[in-house]
Order: sequence, then structure tokens, then C-alpha cells
Amino acid sequence: MLRASQRLDNLAPYALAKVFAARDAKLAEGVDVIDLGVGNPDMRPAQHIIDALKAALDDVKKPNHRYPSFNGLPEFRQEIAAWYDRRFGVKLNPDTEVMPLVGSKEGIAKFFLAHLNPGDPILLTTPCYPAYVGISALVQADVIDVPLSRANEYRPDLEAIPAAAADRAHLITINFPGNPTGGTETPEFYDQLLAWARKHDTFVVSDIAYCDLPLDPTYQSHSFLQFDKNKERTVEYHSFSKSYSMQGWRVGFCVGNADAIGRLAKIKANMDFGIFTAIQRGAMAALSGPQDYCAEVAATYRRRRDVFLEGVRKLGFEVPTPRAGMYVWLPIPKGAANSIDFTADLLNRTGVVVSPGSGFGKSGEGYVRVALCDTEERLAVAIKRMADAGIRAEGVPAAGRA
Ligand SMILES: *Cc1c(COP(=O)(O)O)cnc(C)c1O
Repeated sequence: MLRASQRLDNLAPYALAKVFAARDAKLAEGVDVIDLGVGNPDMRPAQHIIDALKAALDDVKKPNHRYPSFNGLPEFRQEIAAWYDRRFGVKLNPDTEVMPLVGSKEGIAKFFLAHLNPGDPILLTTPCYPAYVGISALVQADVIDVPLSRANEYRPDLEAIPAAAADRAHLITINFPGNPTGGTETPEFYDQLLAWARKHDTFVVSDIAYCDLPLDPTYQSHSFLQFDKNKERTVEYHSFSKSYSMQGWRVGFCVGNADAIGRLAKIKANMDFGIFTAIQRGAMAALSGPQDYCAEVAATYRRRRDVFLEGVRKLGFEVPTPRAGMYVWLPIPKGAANSIDFTADLLNRTGVVVSPGSGFGKSGEGYVRVALCDTEERLAVAIKRMADAGIRAEGVPAAGRA
């Protein structure tokens, strides 16, 4: 008899799946839904990138339609290494320290598969990108929660992690600028993190998907490899999905420690065939071409952030101004039972979709994530509907409750 594996049974239902289902039901009813649930950029990629993909599709001289290699075109790996050098002054060996990915989500999952046995302790900083929660459950890791709090500007308090847990843990995850919190790193924190990781012999999995979406002109993002210069205990993920709005193309990469990249390569060689070659050529154009697109996208998210924050603050919500990324991490109103309940209530009353914080790991409860993936006008409509429905930080009216 065919049964689900233990690793699948270990998986809680994907939190966003419930939100999608409720949203789709509203859409089927004809409700004018404003979808701020998923971090799904609504902008079109830059034309020179689309042109590079088109040219690759039509190029009869190159074998662009054949099976790609699971570890990417050598020239794509070189382009990634060159970008890291320009962007962060970090030198990478394109053949041993760079791995192109079918989106970074794919590579994060396979990295966990390559390195963790059931019961292995890991330190997960949460709230975090939900894929980390899912893959940790699938590999049956023993997840030790490291809470990110507003009081600590959404950076982990390393001293608060029990030394025994730090010593046992195989890895710690970090993500700056952070999804969903918008938290940012500082050089001082990264110095401290490296010293702590050496002391406890812990590997660092860093995710910089939002490094090119600064919203505050004084914020300068870093690679953790600027600190772990010898790549002794770091891999770092980056993605074309957010700053280049190429999320449907499925392309990202992982760089850093050669042994770890080699293990990731072994998993990939057995599980996938890499990225469609034409897409790799488009991604190369993204890295090597003009970068002003990223700045325009960041400016768009900044204007949206400001519209949304001004609106929710008028409704009494106290929210710090995120310095990077494309999200607002909003506390749920007083009296709301939990984030899932509030998300459902908000959808019923206003047609506005957000993501419940409980899907972002252990420390996500009590909040919802608002993705700034619609226009300023639509965000203003969302605020107006919330105001009209009487939704305020102090509470939600009982009348009309779903
Ligand atoms: C969106 C996101 C990703 C996913 O990137 P893909 O390359 O589209 O798979 C990875 N990490 C974080 C933190 C994200 O928010």
C-alpha cells in the first residue's frame, strides 16, 4: 500500500495554501480582491533582459534548447563571480564556489537535503521565509527557534542562544534584508556573528534575496562573505526574483564554501537538469547590464511603503519603517485571536489578502505580512476599505464578523 513518507507527514500544511484557497473562493464570488499575500512582484523585467532571452531562443548556432548542465553554463558562473566582485568585493572561484539554481528556493531545499539527517539540530531565525520552515520539517531537522524581535531590530540576539544549543547546531540561517520583517544587518553584527559561529563551529546559511532593494538611502547591504573572507563556514543565496522581477523565470544562485557547494552539486546532479539555457543567458544580461532597473524598483517599493505606512498609522498601528525589501510586517489588532483568524476576517471584510505570520516560523505569530505588490492607488484603496470596515490597531468591530 502506498503511504505518505514520515518526512511528508512531518510537514504542516503550507500556510500560504490556505490563503490562496480563501482568495480564490472570493475571486470566484466576483469580489474585487487586492492581493498583498504573496511576495510576487507585479513589475515587468527590464527590456534588455527579455531581449537577451529572446535572442537566445532564436540563436541557431548555440545548443540553447538541449539539456542544460545541472551546474549551469561556465560563462553564467563567471558572470555571477564577476557580479559578486563588483557588488561586494568578494572573489569567488566560478567552478567550485558558485552554483546556479532553478530559483534559490530549490537550492535552499537541496542544501538542507545534502547536509541534514533526521534529528539534526539547526538554528532557524524566525519569522523567516516559509520555505525554510517547510524544508526543515521535510528533512526532519530538530529546529531550535531563534526569535527575531523588534526590540533587537530583527537581528538575532546571539548571546541569548544557549551555548549548548549553539554547540550542537549544524547551521544557523540568516536573511538580511529580511523577509518578512524588513530587518537589516550591520557590519558590527556580522563581525559578532562570525566570531560566534567560529566559537560554536556553526555553519552560516545567508540569504540576500533583497540586497538590491534598499528603501532607506543610508542603508548599504553586505554579503556575509565580506566577513567570512575564507569561506570557511558560509554559503549565501541570491535570487533574480525580487530586484529584477524575474520570479517566473526560476533562476537564482548559491555561492561560498566549496565543500558545501560540492555536496549541493551532488544532490542537484541526481535531481534536476539545471536552468533552461536561454534563461541563463537572460540572467547573465541582468547581472552584466545596467543596474538602474533595481533602483527604479526599489523607488517604487519605497513609495508604496510610504503610502501604506501612512495609512495604517492613521488606523493606530505602530509599525517601524522597513529600511529595505518589499514588505510591511504588521501587528494584528488587539483582540484578534491569531494571525490566521485576522487574515480570514480581513479578507471577508475588505477583500484584502495578507499572509498570516504563523506561516513564517515559530516567532511569526501576532503579525501579518503585507507584500507591497500592487500600485500606490490600490494600496490606498486597501487602506480605505480597512478604515471603512473599522479595522484599527485597538481592535476590530464585532458586528459583521465572519
Ligand atoms: C522570495 C525569496 C526567495 C526565493 O527566491 P527564488 O529565487 O524565487 O526561489 C528566497 N529567499 C527569500 C528570503 C525570499 O524572500
